[in-house]
Amino acid sequence: MLVIGSGPGGQRAAIQAAKLGKRVAIVEQQQILGGVTAHTGTIPSKTLREAVLYLCGWREKGFYGRSYRVKADITADDLMQRLHTTIRQQIEIIRHQLTRNGVAVITGTASFLDPHTLRVVEQGSQEQLLKARHIVIATGTVPHRPDDIPFDDATIIDSDGILGIKAIPRTMTVIGAGVIGVEYATIFSALDTKITLIDGRDTILDFVDADIVDNFRHDLQDRGIAMRLGEDVARVEKRPDGRVETHMKSGRRVVSDLVMVAAGRMGATGSLALGNAGLEPDNRGRLTVDEHLRTRCARLREHPRAAQRLVVRMRREQQHPLTRPERRGDRQGRHRARLAARHAGNRLVDPRGQPQQDQQRRGQGPAGQGAGRRAARAGHHRGV
Ligand SMILES: Cc1cc2nc3c(=O)[nH]c(=O)nc-3n(C[C@H](O)[C@H](O)[C@H](O)COP(=O)(O)OP(=O)(O)OC[C@H]3O[C@@H](n4cnc5c(N)ncnc54)[C@H](O)[C@@H]3O)c2cc1C
Repeated sequence: MLVIGSGPGGQRAAIQAAKLGKRVAIVEQQQILGGVTAHTGTIPSKTLREAVLYLCGWREKGFYGRSYRVKADITADDLMQRLHTTIRQQIEIIRHQLTRNGVAVITGTASFLDPHTLRVVEQGSQEQLLKARHIVIATGTVPHRPDDIPFDDATIIDSDGILGIKAIPRTMTVIGAGVIGVEYATIFSALDTKITLIDGRDTILDFVDADIVDNFRHDLQDRGIAMRLGEDVARVEKRPDGRVETHMKSGRRVVSDLVMVAAGRMGATGSLALGNAGLEPDNRGRLTVDEHLRTRCARLREHPRAAQRLVVRMRREQQHPLTRPERRGDRQGRHRARLAARHAGNRLVDPRGQPQQDQQRRGQGPAGQGAGRRAARAGHHRGV
């Protein structure tokens, strides 16, 4: 099996397949393993947060006063030092896990030649062709860069660029009040950077309980973060003095040393030549998969008449009371529990505790119908 991408998705897929006895290789385009989590996402942002909380004495300010700091003059270098140490350790852990499980690592950018063949090109070296019966696409995401924003990767950056800043900005505009925008806005506000947070929506973090968000918004305002919600950005311009002016459609404008755009992320599928595998991503680089995370290509390959069966199944699902959309949650929950049980005990068990064959005999509901087929498919998958 070949896995494209060494982020957490690719690592878990590769290790699981190796544990099931497969010969596995990961193809990674970066010289270092770990994906977004290790290099620009989870671990860097949490490390930066911890470094800032420590250096600015955040947790001790209640005792020693607002002006208390562990280090009086905090520089970007202070933050990056801790970052690089943590990332180095993390990469070691990942490399060790892959080696221990016998997963080979191939460096280079992968693209499809056909559904079973990858062309892997490493900078400055020859290309190689790799074949596998199964290929896992785990290429993750990249920041979305709106075309009309003149990114210069110094004063107008995306969330990856924040890890390369040379100095702590005195003023900063964050465009996009999603998780990443809010996270960096709060981190830099703890360093006394004056933050303006802009979002076209009227609320922030709308997946969080409204009372919690209300309290959080008050807290942000108390800290001096200016919130410009319900405001769309009209344009961003670099001024001759090196600062950046952000114009909002309402006519408001804000001038700052740094603009960070956190406008969502796109599927990193652009380099994969997916057309050669019979696949087409949507306009945000995402692929459509079924409930087993299989692409259309895998479904058609495994079952030549899959297209026809899919249509029949969809029609049946529309009619079946247990698989109407409002029941899908239950169905997926049962499916996940079955998978977990299979991994734990290596046999199919109904999540409600009944052996699945009983249910199959009684022919109850969708778990009963087609359970044999699913078990066969599960066996087939285990043989991948
Ligand atoms: C700022 C930030 C903070 C975050 N904080 C959190 C958090 O606190 N908690 C949390 O759970 N999640 C967090 N996330 C999200 C988390 O990082 C992602 O969900 C996770 O990294 C996705 O893993 P992945 O394996 O799907 O892909 P990725 O980690 O994106 O890895 C994909 C890999 O594929 C490689 N690749 C791409 N194309 C090719 C190709 N053609 N050939 C070879 N290799 C290729 C890339 O180089 C990359 O190494 C955060 C993300 C960001 C940006």
